[in-house]
Amino acid sequence: MTASASISNELDVYAIRKAFPILERKVKGWPLVYLDNAATSQKPFAVIQALTDYYTEFNANIHRGIHTLAEEATAAFESTRDAVRRFIQAESREEIIFTRGTTEGINLVAQTWGRKNLKEGDEIIVSAMEHHSNIVPWQVLCAEKGSVLRVIPVTGKGELIWEEFEKLLTPRAKLVSIAHISNALGTINPVKKIIRKAHEAGAIVIVDGAQSAVHLDINVRDLNCDFFAFSAHKVYGPTGVGVLYGKMQLLEDMPVFQAGGEMIKEVSFEGTTFNELPYKFEAGTPNIADTIALRFAIEFLESIGREKIRKHEEELLQYASERLMEIPGLKIIGQAAQKASLVSFIVENTHPQDLGILLDNRGIAVRTGHHCAQPLMKLFGIPGTVRASFALYNTREEIDELIVGLEKAVHLLKR
Ligand code: PLP
Repeated sequence: MTASASISNELDVYAIRKAFPILERKVKGWPLVYLDNAATSQKPFAVIQALTDYYTEFNANIHRGIHTLAEEATAAFESTRDAVRRFIQAESREEIIFTRGTTEGINLVAQTWGRKNLKEGDEIIVSAMEHHSNIVPWQVLCAEKGSVLRVIPVTGKGELIWEEFEKLLTPRAKLVSIAHISNALGTINPVKKIIRKAHEAGAIVIVDGAQSAVHLDINVRDLNCDFFAFSAHKVYGPTGVGVLYGKMQLLEDMPVFQAGGEMIKEVSFEGTTFNELPYKFEAGTPNIADTIALRFAIEFLESIGREKIRKHEEELLQYASERLMEIPGLKIIGQAAQKASLVSFIVENTHPQDLGILLDNRGIAVRTGHHCAQPLMKLFGIPGTVRASFALYNTREEIDELIVGLEKAVHLLKR
């Protein structure tokens, strides 16, 4: 590949690729073409090195130790909190809670804010394009509290039906939980507008930022969301760690989530007092190594610049969308006006899984299936799709490889 083939004269994608060691590998004899970034992104060397450095140089438990290693580990861990605050432009570091990922963040809100504030007949609003992890925690809560789950329908293009959302904003609506970007369709939802409307109706809003934190510049103060959850592993960071942002007052008023060490101030058999924010919600030894490494992912993104990345990914989306239409019988599922860099599609008379297997035989990794959005697939009347999702290190040539692989796969399957 030559630098002149770069699809963006601003982002040097070939230089960036060198930072990701896994992109050198071969799969079944073919160079890896990794297009499953919406499931999890690959990790730059700096993130991998941060994990090794922690375990080889300053592995220790954090917060209570007075020895050197404990102090170094604590400082590194807490500096990630500062980096995350900056990354999502929150007001204070106390509003940044470390979790295991988006799923745990949503469950935390359901089990604390939800349990305390919802009662029988209250309504929770989600959309038809949610990931299961933004549906099931609310169903569990509804079953416990007698609350009701309401669903904003979507159009055939994969956009929310705004009038239907407005109709759902009755005085019974207490919470809206919405994907910033749909992992199955790529739709970017107008969350700022949704938050304004929901607040006018007296409901709070949690934004599922699992897909957006990597693609969009996140400013939780400008969005004015009440909660924002995302996962490190989708922003070039490690698995097993995530972030829940919450507005200070809401977090202060919420009961504790998990109980144990770390989240307490004083424990006696007569009664226990709880720690201040953010530690009140961080019971037990956290995932120290991965949290430390998350800062390196954030700094990696910051060093390149969100705007450059956005432009590159937009170009990839446009190129992929155009080229995919060359495949006879291919239909793109999700044609929203505002889309992130992923394309979901089906090809007539073929099964997504067969296409996925044949693409893998050429080293091309895509996701096939329902993408943890079974209600959405049902709505579209399909068992699933093939999803190609792009990251900052993907190239136009890799999309060409996808197209060749698809042409060959379709030819084989239709024979
Ligand atoms: N929400 C969306 C939109 C997602 O795409 C995902 C993961 O794919 C999740 C939530 C759950 O994220 P995690 O499994 O990292 O908790």
